Amino acid sequence: MVNVPKGTKDMLPRESHKWQAVEAAAKKITALYNVKQIRTPVFEHAELFLRSIGDSTDIVNKEMYIFEDKGGRKMALRPEGTAGVVRSVLENNLCETLPQKVFYIEGVYRYEQPQAGRYREHHQFGAEFFGSELPCFEVELLSMARDFLKEIGFNDLRLRINTIGCNECRAEYNKALRAFLAGVNDKICGDCKRRAEINPLRTLDCKVPSCKEIYKSAPQISDFLCDNCKQHHKQVLKGLDAAGIQYFEDKNLVRGLDYYTRTVFEFCDGDLAVLGGGRYDNLCEQLGGKHTPCVGFGCGIERLIAAAETRGIEFADNTPYVFAAAQCDSARETCADIVAQLRNIGVSAEYDLMGKSLKAQFRYADRQGFPYVITVGEAEMQSDKYTLKRMADGSTTAIGAARLAQDVKSAVEKDRAQS
Ligand SMILES: [Zn+2]
Ligand SMILES: [Zn+2]
Repeated sequence: MVNVPKGTKDMLPRESHKWQAVEAAAKKITALYNVKQIRTPVFEHAELFLRSIGDSTDIVNKEMYIFEDKGGRKMALRPEGTAGVVRSVLENNLCETLPQKVFYIEGVYRYEQPQAGRYREHHQFGAEFFGSELPCFEVELLSMARDFLKEIGFNDLRLRINTIGCNECRAEYNKALRAFLAGVNDKICGDCKRRAEINPLRTLDCKVPSCKEIYKSAPQISDFLCDNCKQHHKQVLKGLDAAGIQYFEDKNLVRGLDYYTRTVFEFCDGDLAVLGGGRYDNLCEQLGGKHTPCVGFGCGIERLIAAAETRGIEFADNTPYVFAAAQCDSARETCADIVAQLRNIGVSAEYDLMGKSLKAQFRYADRQGFPYVITVGEAEMQSDKYTLKRMADGSTTAIGAARLAQDVKSAVEKDRAQS
């Protein structure tokens, strides 16, 4: 037996309805905002991620799946969604008309230490908006994110938000932060020592408790913001108020990627972060395109489903409807014909494919959650009268052969309307 690779997980049929519900919510809400889907390859040139995510990040340093293909090219499985989308948007000139707004649902790959809730393959619903530096760009994206989370059923939503400034104000801030970090160098963790040299802002993202404690007294970006960044942030918050999005400011929120500028955010339901992102005004240029301000978010679907379940949110399952049970072998053909008629008018139906006994067919129908079973035997075929059994209480309805499928459908619908 070959097993599933460490750190990965199968999505099994019994859970598939949850995934379908999340994807349906994503498709419904993005359509309301006129945002279209994009699909990019699972692997890209590794350079794309080195140039976008940044070489000071854990993702690029420790977690990326990098391999050489047979042509000697250095490739990588995408460790996040944004870089590939930006690459495609630039390569296909999708920024000729702005704004350009896209969403994606895809797997992302990181070589992480497997632990609860962390997988080496996980799936993301993400959106990227290209083209505007106006504060309404963030507000529009965040309204869409909020609507999506509400559609799933989250109702204790709060937005954690911060600004990390632009290149100009961050240069000043980095100087101050470097000086601070030099003073606490013997107390911070090894990763932070390394980050302090390459990209000091990333230290604030450290998960080590002793580091977190030290950074509480670190200089804050808010004291270094240039007037434009201050103004922008104020306008974003004002727009959030107008859109009815509840938020709280967190000065230590920096997010794990190098390409963010100005606004960064996380949507939380209670204490649980379920969706995050920010503005990235320089990434298009960094990847060889024209200067194009952007905002985007990513939402881990596994984590979202787990969070929804701890909140008691239920995902609707598609239950099958009618099982046609054959009493004898000669009735199987009639069963096949009945289910075909039912499917034609939109009723999900199945019949026995295993040659089971009638009793075993009923047991199967019950386990599969069929609410109705129609039994077909010699007597039924000769009299052209069938019996539809309601599994919940065993009550029966007589159905004639002439309009069998329609009559089954109306019986089912009548029953559904009453319950
Ligand atoms: Zn600035
Ligand atoms: Zn640290």
